[in-house]
Amino acid sequence: VSGFDEHIAHVDMDAFFVEVERRRRPGLRGRAVVVGGLGNRGVVASASYEARRRGVRSAMPIVHARRLCPHADFLPPDHTAYREASGEVFAVLRSFTPVVEPLSVDEAFLDVSGLRLHYPGPAEVGEAIRTVLREQTGLPASVGMATSKLIAKLASDEAKPDGMVVVAAGEETAFLHPKEVGALWGVGEATLARLAELGAVTIGDLAELPADLLQRRLGASLGMHLARLARADDPRPVSTETEAKSLSVEATYEQDLTDPDRIEGELLRHADRLASRLRRAGLRGRTVHLKVRLGDFTTVTRSHTLRTPTDTAHVLYRAAKALFDRTSARGRPVRLLGLGMEGLEAASAPRQLDLEGAGWDEVERAVDRIRDRFGGGAVGPARLGGEAGGEPG
Ligand SMILES: [Mg+2]
Repeated sequence: VSGFDEHIAHVDMDAFFVEVERRRRPGLRGRAVVVGGLGNRGVVASASYEARRRGVRSAMPIVHARRLCPHADFLPPDHTAYREASGEVFAVLRSFTPVVEPLSVDEAFLDVSGLRLHYPGPAEVGEAIRTVLREQTGLPASVGMATSKLIAKLASDEAKPDGMVVVAAGEETAFLHPKEVGALWGVGEATLARLAELGAVTIGDLAELPADLLQRRLGASLGMHLARLARADDPRPVSTETEAKSLSVEATYEQDLTDPDRIEGELLRHADRLASRLRRAGLRGRTVHLKVRLGDFTTVTRSHTLRTPTDTAHVLYRAAKALFDRTSARGRPVRLLGLGMEGLEAASAPRQLDLEGAGWDEVERAVDRIRDRFGGGAVGPARLGGEAGGEPG
Protein backbone atom coordinates (compact mmCIF):
# COMPACT_ATOMS: atom_id res chain seq x y z
CA VAL A 1 0.00 0.00 0.00
CA SER A 2 1.46 3.31 -0.99
CA GLY A 3 1.95 5.80 1.77
CA PHE A 4 1.74 9.52 1.51
CA ASP A 5 4.30 9.94 -1.26
CA GLU A 6 2.18 12.57 -3.04
CA HIS A 7 2.27 14.77 0.06
CA ILE A 8 2.61 18.17 -1.58
CA ALA A 9 -0.63 19.93 -2.48
CA HIS A 10 -0.83 22.97 -4.70
CA VAL A 11 -4.15 24.70 -4.06
CA ASP A 12 -5.19 27.38 -6.55
CA MET A 13 -8.54 29.17 -6.43
CA ASP A 14 -10.35 29.28 -9.79
CA ALA A 15 -10.84 32.74 -11.35
CA PHE A 16 -10.55 34.07 -7.82
CA PHE A 17 -11.59 37.72 -8.25
CA VAL A 18 -14.51 36.72 -10.47
CA GLU A 19 -15.71 34.09 -8.01
CA VAL A 20 -15.55 36.55 -5.11
CA GLU A 21 -17.76 38.91 -7.16
CA ARG A 22 -20.17 36.07 -7.95
CA ARG A 23 -20.41 35.13 -4.30
CA ARG A 24 -22.05 38.48 -3.52
CA ARG A 25 -23.81 38.84 -6.87
CA PRO A 26 -25.18 35.39 -7.76
CA GLY A 27 -26.71 36.85 -10.93
CA LEU A 28 -23.19 36.74 -12.40
CA ARG A 29 -23.04 32.94 -12.20
CA GLY A 30 -22.88 31.16 -15.53
CA ARG A 31 -22.13 34.43 -17.35
CA ALA A 32 -18.90 35.67 -18.89
CA VAL A 33 -17.34 38.00 -16.28
CA VAL A 34 -14.15 40.03 -16.52
CA VAL A 35 -12.57 41.90 -13.59
CA GLY A 36 -10.06 44.58 -14.52
CA GLY A 37 -9.28 48.24 -14.97
CA LEU A 38 -12.12 49.68 -17.00
CA GLY A 39 -10.25 52.64 -18.49
CA ASN A 40 -8.84 52.53 -21.99
CA ARG A 41 -5.47 51.47 -20.61
CA GLY A 42 -6.83 48.91 -18.14
CA VAL A 43 -5.88 45.23 -18.17
CA VAL A 44 -7.73 42.02 -17.32
CA ALA A 45 -7.04 40.92 -13.73
CA SER A 46 -9.32 37.88 -13.73
CA ALA A 47 -11.65 36.29 -16.28
CA SER A 48 -14.35 33.67 -15.78
CA TYR A 49 -13.99 30.44 -17.69
CA GLU A 50 -16.90 31.53 -19.91
CA ALA A 51 -14.82 34.54 -20.95
CA ARG A 52 -11.65 32.46 -21.29
CA ARG A 53 -13.40 30.25 -23.79
CA ARG A 54 -13.71 33.37 -25.94
CA GLY A 55 -9.94 33.94 -25.66
CA VAL A 56 -9.87 36.45 -22.79
CA ARG A 57 -6.72 36.10 -20.67
CA SER A 58 -5.20 37.73 -17.58
CA ALA A 59 -3.05 40.81 -18.27
CA MET A 60 -4.72 41.32 -21.67
CA PRO A 61 -5.71 44.94 -22.44
CA ILE A 62 -9.33 45.43 -21.47
CA VAL A 63 -10.16 46.92 -24.88
CA HIS A 64 -9.01 43.68 -26.47
CA ALA A 65 -11.13 41.66 -24.02
CA ARG A 66 -14.17 43.80 -24.92
CA ARG A 67 -13.66 42.99 -28.59
CA LEU A 68 -13.38 39.25 -27.91
CA CYS A 69 -16.27 39.11 -25.49
CA PRO A 70 -18.51 42.18 -25.86
CA HIS A 71 -21.38 40.70 -23.85
CA ALA A 72 -19.30 39.95 -20.74
CA ASP A 73 -19.93 41.78 -17.49
CA PHE A 74 -16.90 44.03 -16.90
CA LEU A 75 -16.28 44.88 -13.24
CA PRO A 76 -13.66 47.09 -11.57
CA PRO A 77 -11.47 45.24 -9.02
CA ASP A 78 -12.32 45.42 -5.32
CA HIS A 79 -9.03 44.47 -3.70
CA THR A 80 -10.38 44.89 -0.18
CA ALA A 81 -12.98 42.20 -0.84
CA TYR A 82 -10.38 39.91 -2.44
CA ARG A 83 -8.02 40.34 0.50
CA GLU A 84 -10.79 39.44 2.93
CA ALA A 85 -11.72 36.39 0.88
CA SER A 86 -8.04 35.44 0.77
CA GLY A 87 -7.99 35.51 4.58
CA GLU A 88 -10.95 33.10 4.62
CA VAL A 89 -9.21 30.78 2.14
CA PHE A 90 -5.97 30.68 4.13
CA ALA A 91 -7.86 30.08 7.38
CA VAL A 92 -9.32 26.94 5.78
CA LEU A 93 -5.93 25.81 4.48
CA ARG A 94 -4.32 26.31 7.91
CA SER A 95 -7.11 24.29 9.51
CA PHE A 96 -5.68 21.29 7.62
CA THR A 97 -2.02 21.87 8.39
CA PRO A 98 0.22 24.67 9.62
CA VAL A 99 2.66 23.86 6.81
CA VAL A 100 1.23 26.34 4.29
CA GLU A 101 3.41 28.37 1.91
CA PRO A 102 1.46 31.21 0.30
CA LEU A 103 2.38 32.04 -3.31
CA SER A 104 -0.18 34.78 -3.83
CA VAL A 105 -3.58 35.83 -2.51
CA ASP A 106 -5.27 32.74 -3.92
CA GLU A 107 -2.58 30.10 -4.22
CA ALA A 108 -0.47 28.03 -1.81
CA PHE A 109 1.57 24.90 -1.32
CA LEU A 110 0.68 22.61 1.59
CA ASP A 111 2.68 19.71 2.96
CA VAL A 112 -0.01 17.29 4.09
CA SER A 113 2.21 14.45 5.30
CA GLY A 114 1.13 15.23 8.88
CA LEU A 115 -2.40 14.07 7.97
CA ARG A 116 -1.41 10.49 7.15
CA LEU A 117 -3.16 9.12 10.25
CA HIS A 118 -6.40 10.92 9.43
CA TYR A 119 -6.90 10.17 5.73
CA PRO A 120 -6.41 7.01 3.63
CA GLY A 121 -4.23 8.87 1.13
CA PRO A 122 -3.30 12.22 -0.40
CA ALA A 123 -6.21 12.13 -2.86
CA GLU A 124 -8.69 12.11 0.02
CA VAL A 125 -6.89 15.07 1.60
CA GLY A 126 -7.04 17.00 -1.67
CA GLU A 127 -10.77 16.37 -2.07
CA ALA A 128 -11.39 17.33 1.57
CA ILE A 129 -9.56 20.63 1.05
CA ARG A 130 -11.70 21.41 -2.00
CA THR A 131 -14.92 20.46 -0.21
CA VAL A 132 -14.21 22.49 2.92
CA LEU A 133 -13.12 25.50 0.86
CA ARG A 134 -16.41 25.29 -1.03
CA GLU A 135 -18.45 24.91 2.17
CA GLN A 136 -16.67 27.57 4.22
CA THR A 137 -15.93 30.21 1.59
CA GLY A 138 -18.32 29.37 -1.25
CA LEU A 139 -15.39 29.49 -3.68
CA PRO A 140 -14.14 26.83 -6.12
CA ALA A 141 -10.55 25.62 -5.96
CA SER A 142 -8.38 23.29 -7.99
CA VAL A 143 -5.80 21.04 -6.36
CA GLY A 144 -2.71 19.24 -7.62
CA MET A 145 -1.13 16.53 -5.47
CA ALA A 146 2.34 15.20 -6.18
CA THR A 147 5.75 14.32 -4.75
CA SER A 148 7.22 17.77 -5.50
CA LYS A 149 6.24 21.42 -5.80
CA LEU A 150 7.02 21.44 -9.52
CA ILE A 151 4.66 18.59 -10.35
CA ALA A 152 1.94 19.66 -7.87
CA LYS A 153 1.73 23.10 -9.47
CA LEU A 154 1.49 21.72 -12.98
CA ALA A 155 -1.09 19.19 -11.77
CA SER A 156 -3.38 21.91 -10.38
CA ASP A 157 -3.16 23.74 -13.73
CA GLU A 158 -4.35 20.58 -15.40
CA ALA A 159 -7.14 20.15 -12.82
CA LYS A 160 -8.71 23.55 -13.61
CA PRO A 161 -11.45 24.50 -13.23
CA ASP A 162 -12.85 23.00 -10.04
CA GLY A 163 -10.98 19.70 -10.12
CA MET A 164 -8.12 17.68 -8.73
CA VAL A 165 -5.23 15.82 -10.34
CA VAL A 166 -2.96 13.44 -8.41
CA VAL A 167 0.33 12.56 -10.10
CA ALA A 168 1.34 9.26 -8.53
CA ALA A 169 4.90 8.69 -7.33
CA GLY A 170 6.85 7.17 -10.20
CA GLU A 171 4.69 8.86 -12.86
CA GLU A 172 6.37 12.27 -12.64
CA THR A 173 8.37 12.23 -15.86
CA ALA A 174 5.53 10.59 -17.82
CA PHE A 175 3.34 13.51 -16.70
CA LEU A 176 6.01 16.15 -17.24
CA HIS A 177 7.72 15.26 -20.49
CA PRO A 178 4.89 15.88 -23.00
CA LYS A 179 4.44 19.45 -21.70
CA GLU A 180 6.08 22.42 -23.40
CA VAL A 181 9.28 23.83 -21.89
CA GLY A 182 7.50 27.12 -21.19
CA ALA A 183 5.59 25.35 -18.40
CA LEU A 184 8.78 25.25 -16.29
CA TRP A 185 9.59 27.95 -13.75
CA GLY A 186 12.37 30.19 -14.93
CA VAL A 187 11.62 29.86 -18.65
CA GLY A 188 10.81 33.28 -20.06
CA GLU A 189 10.78 34.49 -23.65
CA ALA A 190 14.57 34.67 -24.05
CA THR A 191 15.18 31.22 -22.59
CA LEU A 192 12.34 29.79 -24.66
CA ALA A 193 14.03 31.08 -27.83
CA ARG A 194 17.41 29.62 -26.83
CA LEU A 195 15.85 26.27 -26.00
CA ALA A 196 14.09 26.25 -29.37
CA GLU A 197 17.50 26.73 -31.03
CA LEU A 198 18.64 23.60 -29.19
CA GLY A 199 15.60 21.73 -30.48
CA ALA A 200 13.87 21.55 -27.09
CA VAL A 201 10.14 22.13 -27.52
CA THR A 202 8.84 19.73 -24.90
CA ILE A 203 10.24 19.11 -21.44
CA GLY A 204 11.06 15.61 -22.64
CA ASP A 205 13.30 17.14 -25.35
CA LEU A 206 14.95 19.24 -22.68
CA ALA A 207 15.59 16.19 -20.45
CA GLU A 208 17.60 14.61 -23.28
CA LEU A 209 20.02 17.54 -23.57
CA PRO A 210 23.24 17.17 -21.56
CA ALA A 211 23.34 19.38 -18.47
CA ASP A 212 26.76 20.81 -19.43
CA LEU A 213 25.40 21.95 -22.81
CA LEU A 214 22.50 23.70 -21.08
CA GLN A 215 24.90 25.35 -18.66
CA ARG A 216 27.08 26.62 -21.50
CA ARG A 217 24.10 28.02 -23.41
CA LEU A 218 21.99 29.33 -20.54
CA GLY A 219 24.50 30.04 -17.80
CA ALA A 220 25.58 27.72 -15.01
CA SER A 221 22.75 28.39 -12.62
CA LEU A 222 19.76 28.44 -14.98
CA GLY A 223 21.19 25.55 -17.03
CA MET A 224 21.50 23.33 -13.96
CA HIS A 225 18.10 24.41 -12.66
CA LEU A 226 16.35 23.44 -15.91
CA ALA A 227 18.30 20.21 -16.32
CA ARG A 228 17.08 19.16 -12.88
CA LEU A 229 13.48 20.25 -13.35
CA ALA A 230 13.27 18.43 -16.69
CA ARG A 231 14.10 15.23 -14.80
CA ALA A 232 11.41 16.08 -12.22
CA ASP A 233 14.20 16.63 -9.70
CA ASP A 234 12.75 19.26 -7.37
CA PRO A 235 13.61 18.69 -3.71
CA ARG A 236 12.35 22.07 -2.45
CA PRO A 237 10.31 21.61 0.72
CA VAL A 238 7.14 23.54 1.47
CA SER A 239 8.39 26.49 3.46
CA THR A 240 6.32 28.51 5.88
CA GLU A 241 9.08 31.08 6.16
CA THR A 242 8.81 34.16 4.02
CA GLU A 243 12.08 34.03 2.12
CA ALA A 244 12.38 37.65 1.09
CA LYS A 245 13.28 39.97 3.94
CA SER A 246 13.04 43.05 1.78
CA LEU A 247 12.13 44.17 -1.72
CA SER A 248 13.28 47.30 -3.48
CA VAL A 249 13.37 49.10 -6.80
CA GLU A 250 15.75 51.83 -7.85
CA ALA A 251 16.79 53.77 -10.91
CA THR A 252 19.80 55.88 -11.83
CA TYR A 253 19.07 58.68 -14.27
CA GLU A 254 21.22 59.58 -17.22
CA GLN A 255 20.54 63.21 -16.53
CA ASP A 256 19.98 64.42 -12.99
CA LEU A 257 16.34 65.12 -12.19
CA THR A 258 15.56 68.65 -11.16
CA ASP A 259 11.86 69.11 -12.01
CA PRO A 260 9.79 68.38 -8.85
CA ASP A 261 6.91 66.98 -10.93
CA ARG A 262 9.27 64.61 -12.69
CA ILE A 263 10.67 63.48 -9.32
CA GLU A 264 7.15 62.88 -8.02
CA GLY A 265 6.40 60.94 -11.18
CA GLU A 266 9.42 58.73 -10.58
CA LEU A 267 8.41 58.14 -6.96
CA LEU A 268 4.96 57.14 -8.18
CA ARG A 269 6.43 54.79 -10.78
CA HIS A 270 8.66 53.20 -8.11
CA ALA A 271 5.69 52.84 -5.74
CA ASP A 272 3.67 51.22 -8.50
CA ARG A 273 6.44 48.74 -9.41
CA LEU A 274 7.22 47.90 -5.80
CA ALA A 275 3.55 47.35 -4.95
CA SER A 276 3.04 45.08 -7.91
CA ARG A 277 6.15 43.05 -6.96
CA LEU A 278 4.83 42.72 -3.42
CA ARG A 279 1.45 41.55 -4.68
CA ARG A 280 3.01 39.08 -7.10
CA ALA A 281 5.03 37.63 -4.21
CA GLY A 282 1.93 37.53 -1.98
CA LEU A 283 3.61 39.89 0.52
CA ARG A 284 2.92 43.09 2.40
CA GLY A 285 5.52 45.27 4.07
CA ARG A 286 5.58 47.59 6.99
CA THR A 287 8.72 49.74 6.71
CA VAL A 288 9.25 51.98 3.67
CA HIS A 289 12.80 53.07 2.78
CA LEU A 290 13.71 55.88 0.44
CA LYS A 291 17.19 56.31 -0.99
CA VAL A 292 18.19 59.50 -2.79
CA ARG A 293 21.58 60.08 -4.38
CA LEU A 294 22.24 63.67 -5.28
CA GLY A 295 24.17 65.08 -8.22
CA ASP A 296 27.25 65.45 -6.01
CA PHE A 297 27.01 61.72 -5.11
CA THR A 298 25.95 62.24 -1.52
CA THR A 299 23.36 59.63 -0.54
CA VAL A 300 20.49 60.27 1.83
CA THR A 301 18.19 57.57 3.19
CA ARG A 302 15.01 57.92 5.18
CA SER A 303 12.54 55.33 6.43
CA HIS A 304 9.07 55.22 7.88
CA THR A 305 7.16 52.40 9.55
CA LEU A 306 3.47 52.21 8.72
CA ARG A 307 0.85 51.30 11.30
CA THR A 308 -0.44 48.49 9.07
CA PRO A 309 1.50 46.54 6.43
CA THR A 310 0.64 47.38 2.84
CA ASP A 311 0.99 46.22 -0.75
CA THR A 312 -0.76 49.15 -2.40
CA ALA A 313 0.87 51.75 -4.63
CA HIS A 314 -0.98 54.72 -3.22
CA VAL A 315 0.15 54.08 0.36
CA LEU A 316 3.74 53.54 -0.80
CA TYR A 317 3.63 56.67 -2.93
CA ARG A 318 2.36 58.81 -0.11
CA ALA A 319 5.06 57.48 2.22
CA ALA A 320 7.75 58.00 -0.43
CA LYS A 321 6.69 61.59 -0.99
CA ALA A 322 6.68 62.34 2.74
CA LEU A 323 10.14 60.75 3.07
CA PHE A 324 11.45 62.76 0.14
CA ASP A 325 10.25 65.93 1.83
CA ARG A 326 12.23 64.92 4.92
CA THR A 327 15.48 64.88 2.92
CA SER A 328 17.39 67.96 1.93
CA ALA A 329 17.01 66.92 -1.71
CA ARG A 330 14.19 69.20 -2.75
CA GLY A 331 15.49 71.74 -5.22
CA ARG A 332 18.77 69.85 -5.75
CA PRO A 333 19.69 67.62 -8.70
CA VAL A 334 18.77 63.96 -8.09
CA ARG A 335 20.89 61.23 -9.63
CA LEU A 336 19.28 58.09 -8.17
CA LEU A 337 15.99 57.24 -6.51
CA GLY A 338 15.33 53.98 -4.71
CA LEU A 339 12.27 52.76 -2.85
CA GLY A 340 12.27 49.65 -0.70
CA MET A 341 10.16 47.78 1.77
CA GLU A 342 11.12 45.77 4.86
CA GLY A 343 9.17 44.00 7.55
CA LEU A 344 7.57 41.71 4.98
CA GLU A 345 4.82 39.27 5.80
CA ALA A 346 2.49 37.02 3.83
CA ALA A 347 -0.43 39.00 2.42
CA SER A 348 -2.71 36.30 3.81
CA ALA A 349 -1.68 37.07 7.40
CA PRO A 350 -4.54 38.55 9.39
CA ARG A 351 -4.42 42.29 9.80
CA GLN A 352 -6.39 45.17 11.11
CA LEU A 353 -8.54 47.41 9.03
CA ASP A 354 -6.28 49.43 6.78
CA LEU A 355 -6.95 53.05 7.54
CA GLU A 356 -3.95 54.16 5.52
CA GLY A 357 -5.68 53.22 2.31
CA ALA A 358 -7.74 56.39 2.41
CA GLY A 359 -6.85 59.34 0.20
CA TRP A 360 -6.77 57.44 -3.06
CA ASP A 361 -8.37 60.31 -4.95
CA GLU A 362 -5.41 62.50 -4.24
CA VAL A 363 -3.13 60.00 -5.95
CA GLU A 364 -5.42 59.64 -8.93
CA ARG A 365 -5.24 63.39 -9.38
CA ALA A 366 -1.46 63.23 -9.16
CA VAL A 367 -1.40 60.52 -11.81
CA ASP A 368 -3.53 62.62 -14.10
CA ARG A 369 -1.30 65.65 -13.57
CA ILE A 370 1.82 63.69 -14.38
CA ARG A 371 0.24 62.03 -17.39
CA ASP A 372 -0.83 65.39 -18.74
CA ARG A 373 2.67 66.64 -18.38
CA PHE A 374 4.73 63.70 -19.53
CA GLY A 375 2.30 61.76 -21.72
CA GLY A 376 0.45 58.53 -21.16
CA GLY A 377 3.57 56.39 -21.00
CA ALA A 378 4.89 58.13 -17.90
CA VAL A 379 2.63 56.28 -15.49
CA GLY A 380 0.81 52.96 -15.74
CA PRO A 381 -2.68 53.81 -14.59
CA ALA A 382 -4.02 50.29 -14.94
CA ARG A 383 -1.27 48.93 -12.73
CA LEU A 384 -1.70 51.63 -10.18
CA GLY A 385 -5.10 50.36 -9.12
CA GLY A 386 -3.55 46.98 -8.48
CA GLU A 387 -5.00 45.17 -11.44
CA ALA A 388 -1.62 43.87 -12.51
CA GLY A 389 -1.55 41.88 -9.30
CA GLY A 390 -4.10 39.61 -10.86
CA GLU A 391 -4.12 35.88 -10.73
CA PRO A 392 -3.55 33.75 -13.77
CA GLY A 393 -5.54 30.72 -12.71
MG1 LIG B 1 -5.98 31.17 -9.10
